[in-house]
Amino acid sequence: MKIGILYICTGKYEIFWKDFYLSCEKNFIPEAEKEYFVFTDAPEIDFEKDNKNIHRIYQENLGWPGNTLKRYEIFLKSEDLIEKTDYLFYLNANILFLKKITAQEFLPDNNEKIVVCLHAGYYNKPIKKYPFEKNPRSTAYLEKKDGMKYYQGAINGGKTDDFIKVIKILDDNIEKDLKNNIVAEWHDESHWNWYINTHTSGVKILSPSYLYPEGVSLPFEAKMMIREKSLLGGSSSFRNKIELRLVINDFKKFIKKILSKLKTFNFKNDSAK
Ligand code: UDP
Repeated sequence: MKIGILYICTGKYEIFWKDFYLSCEKNFIPEAEKEYFVFTDAPEIDFEKDNKNIHRIYQENLGWPGNTLKRYEIFLKSEDLIEKTDYLFYLNANILFLKKITAQEFLPDNNEKIVVCLHAGYYNKPIKKYPFEKNPRSTAYLEKKDGMKYYQGAINGGKTDDFIKVIKILDDNIEKDLKNNIVAEWHDESHWNWYINTHTSGVKILSPSYLYPEGVSLPFEAKMMIREKSLLGGSSSFRNKIELRLVINDFKKFIKKILSKLKTFNFKNDSAK
């Protein structure tokens, strides 16, 4: 069984590669043969010299949101390489594998094709709060209906043939939008949500255990963690682009972290008395 991992790390995101790779080798379906397709503008990356299963593929830094929005186009440029796998997963650069993940829990079974993960910020929210694409001119536009769910764009994958079909559809849709000067509000994530919510059969749904946000308390076991960027300079500094909503978001998270650190500090001091 061969699992292909699609990993994009242009610009500052390259700092996540080392921990991603080490934790993935250790904990992500350890018995599987893994091929890493690393799309990056870095001239070299850790471990590539000694590991033939790491394929560094030059990818120009497309800025924000191009680096994430154009992911499907980026993958298709290497279709001849990535198609030689049994399963294929795009995983966000800042993922860490904390616990052993088995093939049975993560891979699609005989009746499943595509694997998705519920967004930790929305799994318990009513549908009216889901940030589906609101612009009816976008190919990602979704009218809210009962039973729909909101998925995080940080895990996209499944059986290779099935996932490549989805990649092609979403790449086409994103291209169509760009020709009409439209960028969906949550970029690739809006398109992913459109696809999954309009093609629901054969979808394996993972719980937020597999995209557990760092520093947050949720009623799930943290198996795969999404590392928090607010303590490493914030999303804007990573993306080299200032977006007000993200600056505010990062600032709120930063203050929360400081407050919780102070609380722990006070608690320790109180206990020491
Ligand atoms: N990405 C990248 N370089 C950038 C911006 C994004 O390589 O300058 C890639 C990287 O794989 C990252 C993904 O795009 O994990 C999604 O980016 P985003 O900043 O949206 O991550 P999130 O906020 O979802 O953690």
